[in-house]
Amino acid sequence: MTRVTVWNEFRHEKTDAKVQSMYPDGIHGQISQFLTAAGFEVTTATLDEAEHGLTAEVLEKTDVLIWWGHKAHEEVADEIVESVHQKVLEGMGLIVLHSGHFSKIFKKLMGTSCDLKWREDDRHARIWNINPSHPIVAGIGECIELEQEEMYGEHFDIPAPDELIFVSWFPGGEVFRSGCTFSRGNGKIFYFQPGHETYNSYYNKKVQQVIINAVNWAKATDNIQPAYGHFDALEK
Ligand code: ZN
Repeated sequence: MTRVTVWNEFRHEKTDAKVQSMYPDGIHGQISQFLTAAGFEVTTATLDEAEHGLTAEVLEKTDVLIWWGHKAHEEVADEIVESVHQKVLEGMGLIVLHSGHFSKIFKKLMGTSCDLKWREDDRHARIWNINPSHPIVAGIGECIELEQEEMYGEHFDIPAPDELIFVSWFPGGEVFRSGCTFSRGNGKIFYFQPGHETYNSYYNKKVQQVIINAVNWAKATDNIQPAYGHFDALEK
């Protein structure tokens, strides 16, 4: 069974009534609910736990890590970022959601600022599936329509993705590469834009399906580590 750890900053849900009413069990609670229903073995981890809930033991038992953070990226300890980074290189899948674009771990893996344009204007968004044969879009159809989502606009300062999965359109005229895959070492990474804390995107069935599909895509398929360094010839 695929083991998923859902990491959430979990600060805003404790202090802001609007966020609390949207996600009473925390964003991690809502995400773990639909992932558990999909048949995954799910645990959660949050910023204020010891080692942010990401001890070596937890990471050892994680096939795919999901990351949601917003206002406290700088409070994530560098040692934890380092151990998550190492696990990704060894083959742990990583799904970075929404404002996680500015997390230390995503910026470290990308090597760029990961900056973008943003605006909270309570308007709708259309997330276009531009890679219809990809496993992450199975069952999604041509487009996901969200009644409200935060605008994220280009330019998004990331390296060219290995695969572009979704491009979003916003009513202000902006577009955004909202679903991108990357590989680093043995690890697969998926960035997915929806999920502002005051909007109901994680209750949307298609958004849930994308994250479920992404877990199945990102999990390691082979734990064989390549050999590096000096290498004796195989032939005499
Ligand atoms: Zn947001």
